[in-house]
Amino acid sequence: MDNCIFCKIAAKQIPASVVYEDDEILAFKDIHPAAPVHLLVIPKLHLASLSDCTEEHAPLLGRMLALAPKLAAEHGIAVKGGGDGQHGDGQRSGGYKALFNVGPDGGQEVYHLHLHVYGGARPWRGLGT
Ligand code: AMP
Ligand code: ZN
Repeated sequence: MDNCIFCKIAAKQIPASVVYEDDEILAFKDIHPAAPVHLLVIPKLHLASLSDCTEEHAPLLGRMLALAPKLAAEHGIAVKGGGDGQHGDGQRSGGYKALFNVGPDGGQEVYHLHLHVYGGARPWRGLGT
């Protein structure tokens, strides 16, 4: 897509601080971080928004989401401690948000699908309202 900033990042036409790349997916640091660690996970394929996704995109979306805990671990924001959720053993710490802003009321500003992964020591500026 011409004039799509994230397509240009995926095509290496404009620079970004890339933290992960494979055939389908790129992840890079958000230029205006909402928290100490703030990464964006995008498909290389131009899809404007989650609202344009259908069942056919489920494998791609699944791979984007599955990347979040891997990136979180690599960037020191993984959830630590805790048990299996049933037995309540151990205190959890760490953690992050993994979210899609969708459309104008969802606070989406860049119309190339992206998953925000952000966290780290609070306070955070956060994203929108
Ligand atoms: P959203 O509001 O969900 O569309 O989020 C778009 C995000 O893209 C914002 O958090 C911006 O800071 C980020 N962003 C915009 N341009 C760039 C860029 N060139 N490199 C990295 N992040 C960017
Ligand atoms: Zn694009």
